Amino acid sequence: FTVPEPSNEPVKDYAPGSPERAALQEAIAAARSQVKDIPMYIGGEEIRTEKTQSLHPPHDHKHLLGHFHEGDKGHVTQAINAALGAKHAWENMQWEQRAAIFLKAADLLAGPYRHRINAATMLGQSKNAFQAEIDAACELIDFLRFNVKFMSEIYAQQPPISGNGVWNRTEHRPLEGFVFAITPFNFTAIAGNLPTAPAMMGNTVIWKPAHTQIYAAQVLMQVFQEAGVPDGVINLIYVDGPDAGEVIFSHPDFAGLHFTGSTGVFQHLWKTIGANIAMYKTYPRIVGETGGKDFVIAHKSADPKAVATALSRGAFEYQGQKCSAASRAYIPTNLWEQVKDFLLADLASMKMGGPEDFGNFINAVIDEKAFDKISGYIEAAKKADQVEVIAGGTCNKSKGYFIEPTVLLVQDPLYTTMVEEIFGPVLSIYVYQENHYEEALELVDQTSPYALTGAVFSRDRYAIELATTNLRHAAGNFYVNDKPTGAVVGQQPFGGARASGTNDKAGSMINLLRWVSPRTIKETF
Ligand code: GLU
Repeated sequence: FTVPEPSNEPVKDYAPGSPERAALQEAIAAARSQVKDIPMYIGGEEIRTEKTQSLHPPHDHKHLLGHFHEGDKGHVTQAINAALGAKHAWENMQWEQRAAIFLKAADLLAGPYRHRINAATMLGQSKNAFQAEIDAACELIDFLRFNVKFMSEIYAQQPPISGNGVWNRTEHRPLEGFVFAITPFNFTAIAGNLPTAPAMMGNTVIWKPAHTQIYAAQVLMQVFQEAGVPDGVINLIYVDGPDAGEVIFSHPDFAGLHFTGSTGVFQHLWKTIGANIAMYKTYPRIVGETGGKDFVIAHKSADPKAVATALSRGAFEYQGQKCSAASRAYIPTNLWEQVKDFLLADLASMKMGGPEDFGNFINAVIDEKAFDKISGYIEAAKKADQVEVIAGGTCNKSKGYFIEPTVLLVQDPLYTTMVEEIFGPVLSIYVYQENHYEEALELVDQTSPYALTGAVFSRDRYAIELATTNLRHAAGNFYVNDKPTGAVVGQQPFGGARASGTNDKAGSMINLLRWVSPRTIKETF
């Protein structure tokens, strides 16, 4: 079989007066007019409990989006049993039937569900329309369509040599057991990819989204059901992390973890899995994308306007709540004044407010915990010697969790905000002596434990080459003369090493290969 050749889903621009803007506004109005009651989904059943929690848009405390039904350890066991019960039929289904389901899910997202999933992402996660479109619609559609292509290529992979009375074959079996997917608030596409990538390869999955993502997660679950994902193949639960972990990681059939979230949580889960390793039937696959402290370094030959644009977009799109966000910059003395002027002008044009007003580029950060953490860094910076707040610095949580895009000029390249992940709209800049480029590269490489994304700007090929060589391990996604965010499926497979994750490249064959456990068969005639 061959599958349809994928291409990237075109991004709609929601221009004023366009029919798609009107349709999206209608979907937002429809979502706003209804308080959703959001069940868990276990074995295809909608599960409601006595314990509910309310959901509010991060930018508007007064608006009630809905309530979700929270589960307990019993529901986790129920979900495991549903996943194990569904496994035999699912893994024995011909792979092209599974492919058809996920291709249909992509079509549903591209068509009838597009505005609903974008509206849910805008309201639930406080994303502007354009950021929602590239995430919840385009990137997720691309994940599904490209993964189906990679899946077909995996199933076609066979040992190159047979003959003389011998037939060698590879059977790309799914893992023996269930997979646990833990998804973060910041990308609806990741919420869709983490359970579907293992499911596509014949695994059954328990999916636990961040509580702050549940509003969009339910829409995705409805898409999966309508596309024909059978009952029990993807089970969506809302249970506190420690409770879910206790049941899942002590189960002998736990076979894989597909995680995006913080480094601290990932390391904790890895330790738990390690401590329980003798308990499992098989060594579990552990795939995780964790933090980032992503850099932009400009060489003295760089175009200052291009650098400034990369900083304003790279640092402040989606309020900096991307693992890939530019959060530390190294600018040479000769360019600094120009970069600063362009950057401040760009920031002055960015309006802040709720995403229902399409003119707002900056929306709210996700919740109170994030607000307090980010504003804590900003307040400390205001008091620190040798740190100057050159833009933003205002934090206000009275209506929603709003933090102005904030730029800190630091004199110490080891100042906390140059080293620690903040996951918010805070960019730290260190200005280095223009002839000390190699030392600046060394700082980039050595002063942060993370290695997810990074960018070099230069018009000098030797300088580009030096950065490419010296920063070989400093980023899993390395950009030359471009911002370090916005990886596109099928074009820039995404992921990093060091403290940033296992680097199994989301949206690639490498990732899908983690969800199979091949069997080699030799038959002699
Ligand atoms: N893939 C996204 C990008 O390239 C970032 C994903 C994340 O924040 O986890 O911007």
